[in-house]
Amino acid sequence: MTAPATPETERFEREWLHLATLVDSDLPGWSRTGFSEEDRAARAWLLALMRDAGLDAYSDAAGNLIGSIEGTNPTAPAIVIGSHSDTVPGGGRFDGIVGILGAIEVVRMLRAANVRLRRTLRVVDFANEEGNPQGVKLVGSRAIAGSLDRAALEAVDAAGVTLAALMTGAGHSPELLSGARWRPGDIDAYLELHIEQGPVLTEAGAHIGVVTSICGISTFALDVAGRRDHGGTMPMSTRSDAMCCAADAVLSVQQIASARAEAVGTVGAVTTPSPLTNTISEAARVTGEFRSPSAAGLAELRAEFSATTAVRDRRHRTRSRLQWLHTDAPTPMDTGLSAIVVGAAEAAGERPLRLYSGATHDGVAMSEIAPSAMIFIPSRDGRSHCPEEWTELADIGRGISVLYGSVIAVDAR
Ligand SMILES: [Zn+2]
Repeated sequence: MTAPATPETERFEREWLHLATLVDSDLPGWSRTGFSEEDRAARAWLLALMRDAGLDAYSDAAGNLIGSIEGTNPTAPAIVIGSHSDTVPGGGRFDGIVGILGAIEVVRMLRAANVRLRRTLRVVDFANEEGNPQGVKLVGSRAIAGSLDRAALEAVDAAGVTLAALMTGAGHSPELLSGARWRPGDIDAYLELHIEQGPVLTEAGAHIGVVTSICGISTFALDVAGRRDHGGTMPMSTRSDAMCCAADAVLSVQQIASARAEAVGTVGAVTTPSPLTNTISEAARVTGEFRSPSAAGLAELRAEFSATTAVRDRRHRTRSRLQWLHTDAPTPMDTGLSAIVVGAAEAAGERPLRLYSGATHDGVAMSEIAPSAMIFIPSRDGRSHCPEEWTELADIGRGISVLYGSVIAVDAR
């Protein structure tokens, strides 16, 4: 008996609604932050759901949920599909969640269609993709890729609690992380279905996106030194006002990023140790970041912002020190694998749009050990990481169908 390979979107909706009840009611939106009590409850439920779908599933030392169905050639490198079920504080109900529930649905579709893959299929709910108060993102996927290093485990939050302690408190075993690591040759392909989290697909009238590259990010801290003087007596023309220079830097970030087609720039904080209105600020600090899907583009953004530092100092009679804190290089998705996804989308009657991802994903870590590709579906009004985050059920169904077709096509190549 062969059932048609279409996702049961009503079942998806039921499971999605249930997951939306496992949230922290003390926080706004739908909040299930990594390693929290709610995250634990959701993972216990997802583990049971994986097993119910026929997956041989377990939780690894980092808290990743991993389920597999053995292929007819179990020694062949595996196909991996999945996403994450944790959220940012005050987040929505679709980011990550669509990808993990969609991956489990693909397993059920394969069984319903009596398809036995040649390669083993692994489904992963990555632990804590969104990061934590310790400032470490992609915790689970980095553990799998072997790039969650000691410095990350020893990172602390404002109260001095390490990431390792946070993980231990949630019942995981960061001291056994080496056992969670996968060997690069183990994986043939990593495929992730995710919401776009931006407006590109909706504006283009497309239902399916295939990601070309995940943006690189450069973060900076700009320290401005001015001169403390009386705010009532010092004329405007002779002031050395650190806050004015900082405000100018905020607009530089906006202007530099706006002048490029594929770039964004965002300021995090503007702070000063002298908040008095009757005193001119002698110091100010601006933190921020630039993103670009190309390494050359990211380097140009850094160079341009660096070059404007001296211009602002002349204008405000200040002295600035710009530090580039951290750069994550852009992560191109695998060309061959992405072509297979495009083919699967076209076979499903879609006209997929190629686009880059401004947001970071587990695919960044997974691409260290496996060819990776991502399928995007539309986000209403481009909203994400907020309670208003929304994706139509019909688009979720389309996305799951394309993921299913991609798995079949990758297995057959
Ligand atoms: Zn996500």
